Amino acid sequence: MTVHPQKTRVLESYLAGSWRPGKGEGKPLLDASTGAPVATIDASGLDLAEALEWGRATGGAALRKMTYHERALMLKTLAQALMDKKEIFYQESFATGATRKDGWIDIEGGIGTMFAYSSKARREMPNTKVFVEGAVEPLSRDNSFSGQHVLTPLRGIAIHINAFNFPCWGMLEKIAPALIAGVPCLVKPASQTAYLTELMVRHILATGILPEGALQLLCGSAGDLVDNVTGQDVVTFTGSAATGQMLRQNKAIVQNSTRFSMEADSLNAAVLGPDVTPEDPEFDLFVKEVAREMTVKAGQKCTAVRRVIVPRKTAEGVAEALKQRLGKAVIGDPRDDAVTMGPLASRGQVDEVHARIGDLRREAEIVLMPSGEVSAEGAFASPVLLHCNDPLKAEAVHAVEAFGPVATLMPYDTVEEAVELTHKGKGSLVASVFTNDPEVAEEAVLGMAPFHGRILIGNRQSAKSSTGHGSPLPMLVHGGPGRAGGGEELGGLRSIKHYMQRTAVQGTPRLLGAVTGRWIAGAPGQEDSRHPFRKSLAELKIGDRLVTKSRTVSLEDIEHFAEFTGDTFYAHMDQAAAERNPFFEGRVAHGYLIVSFAAGLFVDPDEGPVLANYGVDNLRFLTPVNAGDALKVQLTAKEISPRITADYGEVRWDCLVTNQKDEPVAQYDVLTLVAKDWPQQGA
Ligand code: NDP
Repeated sequence: MTVHPQKTRVLESYLAGSWRPGKGEGKPLLDASTGAPVATIDASGLDLAEALEWGRATGGAALRKMTYHERALMLKTLAQALMDKKEIFYQESFATGATRKDGWIDIEGGIGTMFAYSSKARREMPNTKVFVEGAVEPLSRDNSFSGQHVLTPLRGIAIHINAFNFPCWGMLEKIAPALIAGVPCLVKPASQTAYLTELMVRHILATGILPEGALQLLCGSAGDLVDNVTGQDVVTFTGSAATGQMLRQNKAIVQNSTRFSMEADSLNAAVLGPDVTPEDPEFDLFVKEVAREMTVKAGQKCTAVRRVIVPRKTAEGVAEALKQRLGKAVIGDPRDDAVTMGPLASRGQVDEVHARIGDLRREAEIVLMPSGEVSAEGAFASPVLLHCNDPLKAEAVHAVEAFGPVATLMPYDTVEEAVELTHKGKGSLVASVFTNDPEVAEEAVLGMAPFHGRILIGNRQSAKSSTGHGSPLPMLVHGGPGRAGGGEELGGLRSIKHYMQRTAVQGTPRLLGAVTGRWIAGAPGQEDSRHPFRKSLAELKIGDRLVTKSRTVSLEDIEHFAEFTGDTFYAHMDQAAAERNPFFEGRVAHGYLIVSFAAGLFVDPDEGPVLANYGVDNLRFLTPVNAGDALKVQLTAKEISPRITADYGEVRWDCLVTNQKDEPVAQYDVLTLVAKDWPQQGA
């Protein structure tokens, strides 16, 4: 399929397997700088219940046939295909008012999030269809009854209702974890900038990389979309608190206990530490960061700094420095390379921001006045800095979000007071603290943390490497309590888990193993004449086991190990001191000696399919080993995870070291890379 975007497009929705226009005339969407029509949008007459059902049945079934790694690789291939087309999206992005830099956050930031999720999932999840979480919980003394948490993909559809400010990132950062989890998506972008999302979805679907039904798009009003949700669906919302609260109380969402995640207004704060003087590098870093947060995306960022909290003695200096920096912003049509700040998304947003500035002015005075409009057609607004002298008594400056290049400066007298001011935002996505003093960092961050989803500490050392106040990262949580919506996105595997159901499964280890595809402590293992290290992935089975002969540890072994490694800790070398230790009865063997002897017992030395040992997990020393004790190892293949893109895979072995009384001495997982075939094909 070739994509031919026209000048003024009629946006269509991709629902139940086809592109469909709305039945109505369509609302015009205008270029934010020129006011020229870009597209029309309408969703009337579209059958949304049918679309949801089609997604659940077609997309869900197709995705669930794949493993986590297969879905993650699919995402990587898709991200590569989108990256190849990025210039097309940049060109379209200008109409939203985004500069090239703003577009980078939206377009390449969004695609980058897909890459990040793809590699994270392949590193941190097994190549299976069920995700086993945490350790087995033994529930009986004789190991005949245990519990294990497993996560499986929900059987519903993920509905993503997005805001106008990030038409690409807003979609991609949400569909990435949902698709890896195995859940199909229906994206409903905000109407104002839906033309860019629609263009990207057209390109996504044209690649044919996603299975049919994995991604649908609704352009236009949501209609009865949310009225048709089930308890297996997930709804995520980004936008205004008013719409979010209304949706949260939707009858179908409430009655079905549908998972609902919301990200709404957030009065994010940047705090300058009391230790910082105008001569310190942190002062400039702070001013730079606040100015950047006010002007990137013309301040239309959920994470933008709205409250600038500074020591009273420094407030004037900060105001002057900010005025100077903000005065350098070149406002205009972002197609012009010299422009550093584009317009707001629409004229409506300009009116909205002016109205909100009016609300703020009830408690704050303007320090930096807005300059004249750049053009009458465009949705231009220049930076506005306000100052509220008594912010502890004020309300509006902590509650009114002017979604544009607007922030309020507020002085404080003690760190405690600064923390209290941040709390007055009633929950925010992010805050930053600029300080070089560990005590200030501790007091401020721990005081602010319960009210924030993310906190950035800025100082001279991290200045070059810092990703900045306003950037949510795929591996870190994005979302905040209270006013910020109470939702949570991103945060590595956490966000994939939002689309899966966690189930505690209880039963006998053998059957738990069958369910999870893992060997579970207490389940039988199988020994045969071949050492398991002689088996390739094609031959190795879960539960394949080796029980070694035993080896007695002598005092000479302990002393030799101590001298050889340099670890002459008293518990190994000084009988009297070891006896005084409450945990030991005389000199004991080093834990690492036990692990080394264990390897000596279980390893098969000849060249074979085991290619490397890349670490151990969960190592615990359980019983002290004294000279004269005899060690034995039971090694069992616990999890086998072949890689899709390599001729080897990971094998996790349960390694149990016991003494002559069969007491467990050490237990851990040995992690190895094993060839799929041996001898290797073509070797
Ligand atoms: P809205 O809450 O109006 O819209 C957000 C999304 O919800 C859009 O996709 C919108 O679609 C959709 N929507 C609106 N009504 C319904 C409904 N009844 N059922 C289902 N979906 C619905 O916010 P705006 O985008 O207009 O932004 C308004 C304000 O929200 C901004 O000025 C800003 O203050 C705040 N905002 C906060 C953000 C944050 O992350 N903190 C991000 C963006 C905005 P449609 O566009 O078709 O109406």
